[in-house]
Formats: sequence, C-alpha cells, structure tokens
Amino acid sequence: MTKRIHNFNPGPAVLPLEVLQQAQAEILDYKGTGMSVMEISHRSKEFEAMVTDAQADLHDLLGIPANYKILFLQGGASLQFAMLPMNFRPAGASADYIVIGTWSKKAFKESQKLGIAKAAANLEAENFNRLPTQSELKLDPQAAYLHFTSNETIHGVEYFTEPIPPAGVPLICDASSDFISRPIDVSKYAMIYAGAQKNAGPAGVVVCIIRDDLLEKVPANLPNLLDYKALAEENSLLNTPPCWSIYIVGLVLKWAKGIGGLEGISKRNQTKAGLVYKAIDESGGFYKGHAKSDRSVMNVTFRLPNEQLEDQFAGEAKKRDMIGLKGHRSVGGMRASLYNALPVEAAQELVKFMKEFQQKNG
Ligand SMILES: *Cc1c(COP(=O)(O)O)cnc(C)c1O
Repeated sequence: MTKRIHNFNPGPAVLPLEVLQQAQAEILDYKGTGMSVMEISHRSKEFEAMVTDAQADLHDLLGIPANYKILFLQGGASLQFAMLPMNFRPAGASADYIVIGTWSKKAFKESQKLGIAKAAANLEAENFNRLPTQSELKLDPQAAYLHFTSNETIHGVEYFTEPIPPAGVPLICDASSDFISRPIDVSKYAMIYAGAQKNAGPAGVVVCIIRDDLLEKVPANLPNLLDYKALAEENSLLNTPPCWSIYIVGLVLKWAKGIGGLEGISKRNQTKAGLVYKAIDESGGFYKGHAKSDRSVMNVTFRLPNEQLEDQFAGEAKKRDMIGLKGHRSVGGMRASLYNALPVEAAQELVKFMKEFQQKNG
C-alpha cells in the first residue's frame, strides 16, 4: 500500500485519491494517444476536448449562466490582483475593496499601485477576526467594481452571503480558497477567480469566470497576455496553457460531480468543519479560535495556551501522520485546512488527537 498522509496543508493542498489514481493510470497513454497529457499538443483535438469538457463540467457544477466565459489562466490569483484594475477600472475611476485579511489586503495594495482604490472596509485593527456587516461598508456608487475575498485563507473568516454592491457596480470575487466548496448564485457576480491549488487542482492554473459585458470594458492597449478579452477570444489558448494543471482540474470537477455536486461537497465540508469547531468550543478555552464570527469552513484557525504547546502540537500531530497544521507566520497558532478533497476521516483523526493532547497538556 502506498502511504497517504492526512494533509491539512493550506495550498498546494490535498487532491482526491481517485483523481491521482486516474492521472496515474493515464500517465503513459492518455486516451489512446500513446502520450501523457504533458506531451500532447495544446492544439490537438484531445486537448481541446479536455478544455471544453472542463468548461462544461464547471458550468454544470456551479450553474454558470450562458453569458459568462470560463478561462484557465496563469500567474495565479496574485496576477489577477493586477489584471483586474488594468482591465476593468477605466483611467481616473476608482475601485472599492473590502479588506478582511492578508489576501484582500494584497489585492487592494496592488490595485492602489496602478490607480485609485478605496477600502470599503478594513478590519486590520481587529486583526481580521470577523467580517464587516453590510451597513459597515462605505460603498462608492461610482466605483468601477467592488472586490471581495470570499474566504480569507490565513485568518479563517468566510463570506456565506455575498456583500451587496451599489446598483450597477460589478461584484468581483477572489474565491481561491473556497472555490466549488458550496453552491453559490453565480449571477450575483461579474467575475469570480480562483487559484486552483486550494480546492480545485494543482498549482499553475487560475480559473476565471467573467460576465460578457465586463469584457467589453477592456481597454485596447493591454499586452495580450494581460488582456482578459484577448484571452477569452482565444478560449485560453492564446499561448501554451498549463496543460497538465488544466487536465487535473478537469478530473477534480468530474470527481466533484460524482460525489453529489456542490450540495454533497458542502455537506461534507460542513461536517468536517463542524467537528473541529466543536472540539475548539468544548475545550474550555484550551483551544481558542482566531475568528470571533464568520468562521471559515475551509481554514480553521486556532491557538493553544502558548507557543511552546503549539510547536509540540504540530510535532506530535506529524508523528501521527497529520501535517500542515501550523498557522501562517503572520497569525501564529494552528490552522487546519479542510478543503474539498480532505476526507472526513482526517477531520475525525484530528479531533481525536486534539482531545488527547488537551487531556495530557491541559
Ligand atoms: C492562496 C491565495 C491567493 C494567492 O494565490 P496564488 O495562486 O499563489 O497567486 C490569493 N487569494 C487567496 C484567497 C488565496 O488563498
């Protein structure tokens, strides 16, 4: 038996075993081509079919309306931080950002480098431990768009209902760490983007879902590879795309459909997060959650009574084949990332360990 570990890594992260097994089975001969996906031409009919298939599966899975394009791009979510204002904020206009953690702060800063961006809210003074309410948002009715991050991977806060932009202001979402983790109403969004390496596949590809009317706003003077309209017109094949990463995303989408779609996945995710939060809440203060409200279903962030115990916790967990539990250095403490592909048993093992650890050290 091949060794598989309980992988709580924040990204790149765990992939479904079935997906890895299929990739393994197809690695020498993809669908009778006598080649692996890494070796076939991105202009071949096999590859084109793979892209079309992945787009169709994502359409089904998320219920994407017909007036949206699906793109598979490079540069990660971080490059979209710069591309968004370049494509969708006309010269002299301003864009609004809801700053609720490390990633939305980065998106905001990148946008400020290139032009005018305003924080509709910034919860840094509270160490990003909750989300702003709708009435706390200072929204500009003239904004080119409103940007928000649906799940803050490092702080562990998550939006379960979208912020509401002023009438006519497009809503743009960085969904990197909760992409395809639950059903959403795509028609509320002008654009959704997500680096694949948390919930949807390996590093190297970012999935962008963009409403057609937004693409009409793209200025004519952008470099081709930074121009969403040019990329959409060539169906992501403007240059050589990350073929292997797109292939794995395609397999993950099929896997997701096969285990009950987003309803099924959401239930599984709720179960996992519910188990870990319950262990925190019932620990009498031994484990303390970072988020005070809006607790993320994807990244559970918590602290122990001191840093020495936190190191010990991570070390002993590793001995029991549970890895990736150290929090990000900017927040400290622990973080359990419970992405789609993490089996429920992994969360059960973690909770068992948390209880034992508390008994010994509490
Ligand atoms: C990981 C992450 C990013 C950065 O993704 P890259 O693909 O490394 O650029 C951006 N936003 C969120 C919410 C993330 O979790």
